[in-house]
Amino acid sequence: MTETLKGIILRETPIGDYDKMMTVLTAEYGKLSVFAKGAKRLKSPLFTATQLFSYSEMTLHKTGSTYYIRTGDLIESFYHMRDTLEGAALAGYIADVASDIAIEDQSATELMRLVLNSFHLIATGKKQLPQIKAVFELRAVSIAGFMPNLVACAGCGNSDLTTYYFDITSGVFRCEECFRTDSLLLEKLASRQSEPDGIYQSGQVISIVSPSVFAAMRHAIYSRAERIFSFELKDNETLSDFAAVAEKYILCHMDRSYTTLEFYNTIKPKLV
Ligand SMILES: [Zn+2]
Repeated sequence: MTETLKGIILRETPIGDYDKMMTVLTAEYGKLSVFAKGAKRLKSPLFTATQLFSYSEMTLHKTGSTYYIRTGDLIESFYHMRDTLEGAALAGYIADVASDIAIEDQSATELMRLVLNSFHLIATGKKQLPQIKAVFELRAVSIAGFMPNLVACAGCGNSDLTTYYFDITSGVFRCEECFRTDSLLLEKLASRQSEPDGIYQSGQVISIVSPSVFAAMRHAIYSRAERIFSFELKDNETLSDFAAVAEKYILCHMDRSYTTLEFYNTIKPKLV
């Protein structure tokens, strides 16, 4: 089978001196393992189209479960993501999460668009990195099947609050009153844990979120794909809180850590 597809190079592993194995994200088939023969040679016609984070049109030939790239044309290199170390680090983390979420042979149109938009904004510097990162995280974790419910309090149905008690673990929020009632109930249940057959666990992780952070979360989750990054945060404290809750949420639900994220966090821009 030979097919021409557009894809983003999410990962590359060198094989010998001249070849590499790549993880490529495509809209049609999700993530693919693609072998690029000779692509590390400077004179290879595949050289530019197979650079990490590039978006390229590729002619792929499938043999067994492996794809081989025959020809490649670079569409966008997102070269300026590398202008700062922080930008390059964030791109690495985004590529890792996308690679984690994408499934082989399952279309990934929305994820592909999300990665392309995030890369574009990092490269152009039109949005602050923490905002790009947080929106990407909330949207990516939703694509992975863990969309939080930010419509109304899980207890009473109120939606317009002064403080939001966001339950990271279950992806719902409560108003203060319902949160207190719920906490009392959980304490009661937790006290029964000492019973030999106790199965109750409180185990909740709660983030207390302000209305402006909550509005940003709602925007990231519920806006149409082309609008998700189009909002302003009123100050750096709001941006910092928004970034913190998004990161906690995705890490809780992906249930793993990312070395690329740890690296980004050691060098990320200071906000407050
Ligand atoms: Zn309530």
